[in-house]
Amino acid sequence: MSAFKKLDDLGDVTGKVALVRVDLNLPMQDGAVTDDTRVRAAAPTILELAGKGAKVLLLAHFGRPKGERVSTQSLSMVVDCLQQVLGKEVMFVPEIAGPVVAQSIGILRAGDIAVLENTRFWKGEEKNDPELVKAIAANGDFYVNDAFSAAHRAHASTEGLAHVLPAYAGRSMQSELEALEKALGKPERPVAAVVGGAKVSSKLDVLTHLVTQVDHLIIGGGMANTFLAARGVDVGKSLCEHDLAATAEAILDKADASGCTVHLPYDVVVSKEFAANPPSVRTCNVHEVAADEMILDVGPQAVEALGDVLKTCKTLVWNGPLGAFEMAPFDQATVALARTAAALTAEGSLVSVAGGGDTVAALNHAGVSADFSYISTAGGAFLEWMEGKELPGVKALEA
Ligand code: ADP
Ligand code: MG
Repeated sequence: MSAFKKLDDLGDVTGKVALVRVDLNLPMQDGAVTDDTRVRAAAPTILELAGKGAKVLLLAHFGRPKGERVSTQSLSMVVDCLQQVLGKEVMFVPEIAGPVVAQSIGILRAGDIAVLENTRFWKGEEKNDPELVKAIAANGDFYVNDAFSAAHRAHASTEGLAHVLPAYAGRSMQSELEALEKALGKPERPVAAVVGGAKVSSKLDVLTHLVTQVDHLIIGGGMANTFLAARGVDVGKSLCEHDLAATAEAILDKADASGCTVHLPYDVVVSKEFAANPPSVRTCNVHEVAADEMILDVGPQAVEALGDVLKTCKTLVWNGPLGAFEMAPFDQATVALARTAAALTAEGSLVSVAGGGDTVAALNHAGVSADFSYISTAGGAFLEWMEGKELPGVKALEA
């Protein structure tokens, strides 16, 4: 990651128009926002710019309206939530470019905030159409991107604008990039990665990239079953992608060649039914899984050994739960290892970075979210970063 400009690099912006890309793709029910986490993440950048006297125009997408105005996906619905979180009045502008935006800017005073309409109402957004980019840019003096979660997409508001206006990373983008850099860019070694979740097929690129980057790869969740099966273990009725045996072997070979130690569970928690606290739940060695049983979590002995691995490491990057954590008792391995990681982080011996939709839920469930060094809520962008891909929205800021 090379250098990018931050808000510290801004000169006097009094009265200047800031086009600020934020993540306002908020969970909604019946037209009301049900979780304002993303707004709170963007608030420091918005308030800092407003505090410096800029006229702040927020740009964001909501849902997938596919280039058409869909009234149920208008960003007018998030105005109340923005006002509440920011503690300031927020104007809504039903366009993203053209004279209506220009007139609104005329009404705004220095330090005022407006949110423009859903960028995806315009076909040019997802096409990164240079005409649309030019039209949006015409109303702004500079561009700030504070939406890491959208940075894996090269759209007009996430990438295009950075090429035609002076471009800066917002505070949330900046902390995300700094955390990710610490975890995989220039990490302190040894580095451990935990990769769990349901399927190998959804994280092939993550696994393939990580084995060349980390010293220890801890594989858990349903995907561990595919690796165990590839090694000749009978996994019974477990979720398992038998057709990926050769792929799993190739990943293990690549790990070997790169000096990466792969950790697969040697004891597991199994049951005959996929339900909470089933009567048939038991812990056994991976070689003792019966034909009618499913592996639903990593076993306690393996978890203890994995904790010892983390104790030897300086950096941890985590994506994917170790078991079917939504149901007791299959949350135990994830909870226990997460607590070990949190304790090591609190002691100052581990930098811990985690991300992924279910991973964030699992770490919240374990009660450790505040103790990790950084938890990314960016979903797709976080996974692409774990795959070693260059994110267009980030690259454009570096240019
Ligand atoms: P993330 O969203 O953090 O990237 P994934 O979506 O890849 O994570 O995986 C999470 C899902 O994997 C959870 O729904 C969890 O129940 C499931 N899972 C984990 N371990 C197993 C297992 N052994 N068998 C079946 N499903 C599992
Ligand atoms: Mg998921």
